[in-house]
Amino acid sequence: MPPGVLLVTGGSRGIGAATARAAAAAGWSVALTYRDDEAAAAAVVADVEAAGRPGLAVRADVAEEDDVLAAFAAAETLGPLTGLVANAGIVAPRARVDELTAERVRRVLAVNVLGAVLCCREAVRRMSTRHGGTGGSIVLVSSAASRLGSPGEYVDYAASKGAVDTLGTGLAREVAGEGVRVNVVRPGIVETDIHASGGQPDRVARIAPSVPMGRAGRPGEVAAAVLWLLGEESGYCTGSLLDVAGGR
Ligand code: NAP
Repeated sequence: MPPGVLLVTGGSRGIGAATARAAAAAGWSVALTYRDDEAAAAAVVADVEAAGRPGLAVRADVAEEDDVLAAFAAAETLGPLTGLVANAGIVAPRARVDELTAERVRRVLAVNVLGAVLCCREAVRRMSTRHGGTGGSIVLVSSAASRLGSPGEYVDYAASKGAVDTLGTGLAREVAGEGVRVNVVRPGIVETDIHASGGQPDRVARIAPSVPMGRAGRPGEVAAAVLWLLGEESGYCTGSLLDVAGGR
């Protein structure tokens, strides 16, 4: 399927912003969501438009069903939706499992798991031939944490990404006969603000030397993998888990 209309959740910064920019360059019209940073979202939309593609930004917390519905409705003003990158995700401050609060775990699971499921549901309702759609492509942004487990750091986050991997595996098989492909990208450590948001601004500098390639990844390197999975060149891939992690 050629590029059409793409929704990128968490498209205002980091991996999502790089994905939105790369998608516009590849010919997609791009709707993106953000949670707080309106100025960053507007800057990404300006870049999408500078690439000659329509773009828009919607404030939406993916953990809130009404926000997700509003985001999909806004995206559809650009045309029929054929792509989703479920990228929005959060970490929490470093903690052992024996220190976790229910409130924190609830929020991590709500954004990373419930948010991804709700977005997939809305995408399938629009893309699947079962629902009168013409097909589409979904990419879930998980993490190498799903196989590393993040001990001593955030096992709850790692577990949420394990759920994202399984969501991708199951949904891919569920809709494979309905024109919808579903794939998962698992980044390793990538240079974005997410580490500071979890109270570890030095995390990239600390961990990068232990990555087999000796460095952190760049958002654009993850975006390139996402774009490949979204597009026609990966047309026989569904249910794939693609590690973009420098060998980690
Ligand atoms: P980031 O730089 O912190 O950006 C997060 C993006 O998600 C922002 O656009 C933010 O919006 C948005 N967002 C946060 N909470 C949201 C919510 N509840 N609802 C909707 N949008 C929300 O993060 P990133 O590093 O690019 O991470 C993107 C994805 O990659 C996440 O799923 C993360 O788990 C995954 N990942 C990242 C790394 C890494 O090392 N960076 C590694 C593995 C996996 P605002 O700008 O408005 O806050």
